Amino acid sequence: MIRKVKGTRDVLPPESRLWAEVENTAHRVFDGFGYDEIRMPVMEPTELYVRSVGEDTDIVAKEMYTFADRKGRSLTLRPEGTAGVARSYIENGLGQRPQPLRLSYFGPMFRYEKMQRGRYRQFAQIGIELLGAATPAADVEVLLVLHTFLAELGFDDLVIVLNNLGDPEDRPVFIEQLKSELEPRRVELCSDCQRRWDANPLRILDCKVARCRELVADTTPVADVANPEARAHVEAVEAGLNDLGIPVRRAPRLVRGLDYYLRTVFEVVSPELGEDTVICGGGRYDRLIADLGGSQVPGIGFAIGEDRLVEVLPEVFRQEVFDRPLIAVLPIGPDAAAPGLSLSRRLALAGLAAPAEVTGRSLKAGLKWAGKIGARAVAILGESEIAEGTVIVRDLENSEQKTVRLDDVAEYTRRLLARSVEASTGSESNDGHERVG
Ligand code: ATP
Ligand code: MG
Repeated sequence: MIRKVKGTRDVLPPESRLWAEVENTAHRVFDGFGYDEIRMPVMEPTELYVRSVGEDTDIVAKEMYTFADRKGRSLTLRPEGTAGVARSYIENGLGQRPQPLRLSYFGPMFRYEKMQRGRYRQFAQIGIELLGAATPAADVEVLLVLHTFLAELGFDDLVIVLNNLGDPEDRPVFIEQLKSELEPRRVELCSDCQRRWDANPLRILDCKVARCRELVADTTPVADVANPEARAHVEAVEAGLNDLGIPVRRAPRLVRGLDYYLRTVFEVVSPELGEDTVICGGGRYDRLIADLGGSQVPGIGFAIGEDRLVEVLPEVFRQEVFDRPLIAVLPIGPDAAAPGLSLSRRLALAGLAAPAEVTGRSLKAGLKWAGKIGARAVAILGESEIAEGTVIVRDLENSEQKTVRLDDVAEYTRRLLARSVEASTGSESNDGHERVG
C-alpha cells in the first residue's frame, strides 16, 4: 500500500464541504470589498523567498521545500503567498492598473515542519493583499475585511492582536536596546536564539521556547522605539478600528516570522487553539516590492491558515453545511435509468442535491440506500410515472408521498426539503453572526 507523504492530508467528504463553504464565504466577502483573485504558481525561484521573507527566518532557514529541477535551477514550493504576489505585481506591470490594487489568493503552501495538530507540511492559506495604499485607512480596511469574513463564518470568540514594528530605520535602535536589555541573561537563551543574536535579533521575540519568552517578556516594546510617524500611523489604525467597532488588543512583543513587515502587524488567535496556534497573520510591507526590484509600492495583507480555521469552525456553521438536504432519485427498472438521470439533472440545475441510484437496485433496496446516504426524500420513477410524465416524491421522515408532474417536481421538492430543514434545526434563523474580537 502506498501512503500519503508525511505532513500532507486527505480532506474527505463530508469534511471537504466545510472547506468549500469557507472558500465560498471568503470569495463572497472579499469580492464584496473589491478583491479579485490572483492565481499564482506553487513553485517560484528560491531566490524570491530568500530576498523577501528573509534568509534568517525560520521559513527560509529550515522550512522550505527547495530542489533543483532537471536543468539545475533552484526552485521552491511556495511557503507563503505575499512574495509571489509581489513578484507577479512587478513582472506583470500591475502598477499600471488603477491603484490601489486589491487581490485575494487561495491555495496550498508548503513548509517542512514538525508535524503536530494544526501544523502540516502542506497546508492551505486564504489571503488578501491591498497594494498601492500607504494610509492608515488601508490597514483598517484589511482588518475590516478579515473581521467581516470571520463574523460571516459565525466566530464570536476570536481575538485580533496587533503591534507596531516601526520602520526599518527604527530597527537598529530597537535591536541595540533589546540586546542591551537581554545581555545579562544572554546565555539562558536557546541555541536558535544564540544564532539569531547576530543574524537576526528581532526573531528572538518570535521564539516559541518558553524560557526565551520569559526572558523577552520584560524588554522594551518595539513600538516604544518607533518613529513618531509610524506611531501616528498605527494609532490612527487603532482609532479607525475603534470607530468601526472592531476590537483589537495590543500585543507589544508580536513581531511575526517574516522580515518584510513594518509598522502594523497583527494576528488572530483562538481560545480553543491557544496563543501558539495562530489562525491568521498579516501586516504592512511598504518596502517589499522595491526590495524585489519594483518601484516603491506600499502594501498590506493577511494570510489565514485554512486548516486551523476549519478545525475551530463554529457549530452553527458546521451544522448549516452538514445539514444540506438531499433527495435521492430512484429509477425502477432498466428503462428508467435515463429518465432518472434526466430528473437528477433537472433537480441539480434547480439548486438541489439529487444523486441518482445507478446500480439497478430494487425499490426496497433503493429506499435503504437513500436512508444510508442521509436523504430526506426520494423521487421514485417507475414505468407508469415515466409514461405519464410524473414522479412520486416521498418524504422519508413521515413516509407521506405524492405524485407530482415533472414540471413541478423541483419546486415541490424545494418546499418539502426546506420544511424538513426547519424542523431539524428548530428555526431558519441563527444569530451567531457579527461578533468577532
Ligand atoms: P506559526 O507561528 O504557527 O508557525 P507562522 O507565523 O509561521 O505561524 P504565517 O507565515 O504568518 O505563519 O502564515 C499565516 C498562517 O498560516 C498562520 O497563522 C497559520 O494559520 C497558517 N500556517 C502557517 N504554517 C502552517 C502549517 N505548517 N500548517 C498549518 N497552517 C500553517
Ligand atoms: Mg511558522
